Amino acid sequence: MTKKWVYLAHNGKAAYEEVIGHEPTLDEMKAIFGGKGAGLMTMTAAGIPVPPASTITTEACVEYMRTDEFPEGMWEQVLDSVKVLEEQTGKTFGKGPNPLLVSVRSGGRLSMPGMMDTVLNLGLNDETRVALAERTGDEWFSYDAYRRFITMFSDIVMDYSREHFEAELEKLKEEEGVELDPEVSLEGLKKLVGIYKQMYQEKFGEPFPSDPYQQLRLSIRAVFDSWNGERAIAYREHEGIPHTWGTAVNVQTMVFGNLGDNSATGVCFTRDPSTGAHEYLYGEWLPNAQGEDVVAGIRTPRKISLQASREWAESRGISEEVRQEKYPSLEEAMPKTYQEFSEIAAKLEAYYDDMQDIEFTIEEGKLWILQTRTGKRTAHASVKIAVDLVDEGVIDEETAVMRVEARYVELFLRPSFDPKAERELIAEGLNASPGAGVGKAVFDAKRAKEMQEAGEDVILVRPETAPDDVPGMLASKGVLTQKGGSTSHAAVVARGANLPCVAGAEGITVDTNKRQFTTTEGEVVKEGEVISIDGFIGEVYRGAVETIETVWEEQTDLLRLLGWADKIRRLGVRANADQADGAEMANRFGSEGIGLARTEHMFFHPVAREAVVRMIVTETKEGREKALEDMLPIQEEDFEALFEVMDGKPVIMRLIDPPMHEFLPAKDELLEEVTRLRCENPGSEELVEKEKMLEIVNRLWETNPMMGLRGCRAGIMYEGLTEMQTRAYFQAACRVAKRGIDVHPEVMIPLVGHVNELTLESEKLKEVAAQVMEEEGVEVPAMFGTMIEVPRAALVAAEIAKEAEFFSFGTNDLTQMTFGFSRDDAQGKFLMQYVDMGILPDDPFQTIDEEGVGKLVAMCVEDARKANPDIEVGICGEHGGDPKSIDFCHRVGLDYVSCSPPRVPVARLAAAQAEIRNREK
Ligand code: ADP
Ligand code: MG
Ligand code: MG
Repeated sequence: MTKKWVYLAHNGKAAYEEVIGHEPTLDEMKAIFGGKGAGLMTMTAAGIPVPPASTITTEACVEYMRTDEFPEGMWEQVLDSVKVLEEQTGKTFGKGPNPLLVSVRSGGRLSMPGMMDTVLNLGLNDETRVALAERTGDEWFSYDAYRRFITMFSDIVMDYSREHFEAELEKLKEEEGVELDPEVSLEGLKKLVGIYKQMYQEKFGEPFPSDPYQQLRLSIRAVFDSWNGERAIAYREHEGIPHTWGTAVNVQTMVFGNLGDNSATGVCFTRDPSTGAHEYLYGEWLPNAQGEDVVAGIRTPRKISLQASREWAESRGISEEVRQEKYPSLEEAMPKTYQEFSEIAAKLEAYYDDMQDIEFTIEEGKLWILQTRTGKRTAHASVKIAVDLVDEGVIDEETAVMRVEARYVELFLRPSFDPKAERELIAEGLNASPGAGVGKAVFDAKRAKEMQEAGEDVILVRPETAPDDVPGMLASKGVLTQKGGSTSHAAVVARGANLPCVAGAEGITVDTNKRQFTTTEGEVVKEGEVISIDGFIGEVYRGAVETIETVWEEQTDLLRLLGWADKIRRLGVRANADQADGAEMANRFGSEGIGLARTEHMFFHPVAREAVVRMIVTETKEGREKALEDMLPIQEEDFEALFEVMDGKPVIMRLIDPPMHEFLPAKDELLEEVTRLRCENPGSEELVEKEKMLEIVNRLWETNPMMGLRGCRAGIMYEGLTEMQTRAYFQAACRVAKRGIDVHPEVMIPLVGHVNELTLESEKLKEVAAQVMEEEGVEVPAMFGTMIEVPRAALVAAEIAKEAEFFSFGTNDLTQMTFGFSRDDAQGKFLMQYVDMGILPDDPFQTIDEEGVGKLVAMCVEDARKANPDIEVGICGEHGGDPKSIDFCHRVGLDYVSCSPPRVPVARLAAAQAEIRNREK
C-alpha cells in the first residue's frame, strides 16, 4: 500500500490516528499537516464553518525536496481528494454549471506569515469563467476573479512578476479615468484578461494553462519549491526554524468576499498583538473584497469592533458621521455575523488557550473561517497575555513561563525615546510594532541589507512591504511604510522580529525611484538622511531622537512572570560585573551574586594602569613591590564598593588574566619611534628609554597571546601580583564586614591546566587571606576555586576538584581551545561562513557546542562531584546568558549560570523553562 500523503479536513485527524496508532497531539498534527492544515482540521471537527479542504503533508514536501518529484501515489491521492471536495460542495472542478474553484495554500509547522505564497481562484479557464458568471449572475466578478488568478498564478507559480500585470491594470484605470479597481468597466476587464493571456503566451511561448489539473499540479509544485525560496530561508534562519521540516499544502474550496456589499473579508487578533490588551477584537475588515485586499493596504480597512472604530476615527480626526458612513465597524455593518464571529473567536482562543490570529471571509452573508493560528506578538504583548491568561484562570503559571521567549525579555531593557527630547515630527502612522528605531532612511530592501553589512544603522522605508523585503527588514533598525494597517505584512513581520514599525503613515509619499519620501508639508527626506521612528506610538521624526532606558521597576507583568520563574528554576543566576554600578544593575534585575568580577578592568584607572606598567617594567624587587603597593588601594576601593552593593551575596573575584603586554605600548609603534629617534636624535635620553621599553615589549611579545602568559601563569611568574590582589580583596571584605555588611568573598584562579598550578597559587593566596583576617581582626567566609577553561583541566577535573572549593566554566576560552581557533579571528574571518555552510549549527561562542565542548563540561562536572561532592559548579562564559546554553547547563546539573547584567532576566526565565522542559521529558 502506498503511503498516505493527502488528508481531508473533515476527517484528517481520525485518519492520521489510524496511521500512527494513537490520537495525535496538536504538535503532531502541526508537524505533519502544518499549522494551517492542523487548524483547518481542528476547526472543522469543532463544527466551525470552514470551506472544505484537503492537506498534502509535510512528509510529501520533504520527499519532493529529495527527489524533485511528487512522491509515489501522491498525485492520485490529490485527485481523489478533489473528488471528495466536489461531493462535499456539489461543484465540479474544471466544469460548469457550478465550477469548483480552490485556493492552494502553503503552511509549515510554525507559521511563517507572508513567507510562502497562496494561489486563489484556481480552476478558472474560459469555460469555467462563463459558468461562474452564470452561477453568480455577475459577469464582472467572474472576469475580476479570472484576472486575479492569472496574475497570481503567473507571479507565484511561474515567477513572472505581478508588477507587469498590475501595470496593465493601472494603465486601464488611467484610460478609463477611474481610481479604484472596482470602478473598472466590464469591457475593460474583458480586454485586460485578453492582454494577460497574451502576455503569458509571449513570455512562455505557450498559452496560459487552461487545464485545471495542470494548474493544480504546477501550483502544488510551486508551494513545495517556495520552501526553499530565498526569503523563506532568510526567515527560518532568523527564527531558528529547521530547513528540513518542509511545508504542507492546503487545497481549499474558494469562498468569495467580493460578491457585493453583503460579502466581506477580514483578519482579526483576539487580543492586541502590540500591547496584549484584551479590550475588544483587534482586527480589520473590508466589504466586497477578496483575499489579501485587507492586508495589501490598497483600501483603508475598517475596524471590527465599534469601540476600536471610534478610537481609530478619533485619533485621525474623522468625525462620527463620516466614520459611520465611510468606515463602519463590522459590529455595526453586519451585527449578526459579528456576533457569530465573536463567539467563534472566543471558542478558538479557549481551545488553543492562547491569543489567536483569525482570517475570515463572509460570502453573501455566510461566515467562513479560513485560518486560525496562535498570533504573533511583541515581547511586551507576549508577557502581558501570558500573565493575563493566568489571571483569567486559563493557563497556569508554568504554562505562562513557557509562553514567553526568554531572549525577548532583554527587549524590555531596550531604550525608548526620551519624552523630554527635542524632536521634529514629520509623519504619523500606526504603532504597528513597539520600539524606538534610529537610522538612515533607505528605500530598497537590498540596499538596506548592504548598508547594514557595511555597519550602518538603517530604517527601511517602503510604500508597503512584500515578502521579498524580509531580509532587508531584518537588517534594519525599524520599518516605516506608507500604506497598510496593523495587520499588514510590514507590521506582522516586524512584530515577529521585534523590530520597531510604523505602518500606514499615509501622510507621506514614498518614491522608491527617487529614493525619497515627501511629508504632508511637502518636505523631502532623501536616502541616507537620519530619521527616528517610534513604534510605541506610531510617530516619525527627522534626525536622531535621544533615547532613554525603560524603567525596569515599572514592568509589573514581567516582574510577576519572573517571580514565577524564580519559584520554578533550579539553576542559580549570577552576573558578570566588575564594578559597583554593574553589580547594582544586576541586582535590580534579580542577580543572586557576582559570578565573575574581572579584576583587570579595574586597571583602566590611570594611576593603576601606570603602576601595572611600572610593575612589569621594573627590574628591581623594591621597584616592583612599590608598584604593587600603589595598585593595592585602588583595587581595594573598587572591591569595597562591590561588596557593599552585594550585601549578603557571593562575589567571585577572578585574579588578573590578560597577557601582560596588553598594558604596554604597541610593538610596531614603538619600533617606528625608535627608528625615527635613531635617525633624528641619536644619543638622546628619550631614545635610551624607548629602546629599553622596546626590549621589554619584545621580550614579552607572544605569537599567540591567548595561549601565553595569562591567568595563573602570570600570577605565578610575576611574584607578588596575585598576592596583592588577594590582599586588596580580603582587606576590602574585612573592612566592609566590620561595617556590618554580609560578605562572601570567593577567589577564582584562572586558566589552570595542571593541578600543581592551582595548589601553588591557592596555598599562597589562602595564606594571604588568613593573614589579612588576622590583621583586621575579623573572620569572613572565604572560598577558593578555579576556572575550567583549558581542556586539560576538564580532563583532570577529579584531581583539581580536590584542591578547589568551586569550579566556574570559562566557556569562551574553553570553546576556543577545544576547537583550536581563536575567537576574534574566527568570528571575524570564517565562523559566519561556517554557520552559513552548515558546518556548524550555531556560532559556538554564542550557543555552547554541546557535542564537543559540552561533552567536556558534562564529564568534568561528573568527575568533580565524585571527587568532591561539596564542590559548587557554575558557568561564567558568554553562554551563561544564552537560553539554549542555559538549558544545557541545567541538564548537566550546574549550580548557577553567570551572565552580563542585562541578560540576568533572560537567564532567570530560561532557567525556569529548562526545568519545566526537562521535567516533562
Ligand atoms: P498566509 O499563509 O500568507 O496567511 P493564506 O493561505 O492564509 O496565506 O492565504 C492568504 C489569503 O488568501 C487569506 O488571508 C485569505 O483571505 C485568502 N484565501 C485563502 N484561501 C482561501 C479560500 N479558500 N477562500 C477564500 N479566500 C482564501
Ligand atoms: Mg502567504
Ligand atoms: Mg493566512
